[in-house]
Amino acid sequence: MPSIEAHVKTSLERTGKEYKDVHEWVDKDEAKKVERHDITKMPQNAREIELKWGKEAAGEFVQHVHDDVKKRIADTLAYFGVK
Ligand SMILES: [Zn+2]
Repeated sequence: MPSIEAHVKTSLERTGKEYKDVHEWVDKDEAKKVERHDITKMPQNAREIELKWGKEAAGEFVQHVHDDVKKRIADTLAYFGVK
């Protein structure tokens, strides 16, 4: 999955802000990492982010999970030789 630095770079390109706190919140805590990427928990996670860092930050959280899923799918297809 993209590194925190890669997520920061895409947030900066998209919004003009890094949202490093958001990307670290999602990826850094190994004990909570799976839960914070869980799509079924996305509504409450997005609400928590919005309360902490605002509405645009919640959007960057959703985009973070989207970018991770997209990369994971691309890696899986490449593994099986699908282009
Ligand atoms: Zn992630």
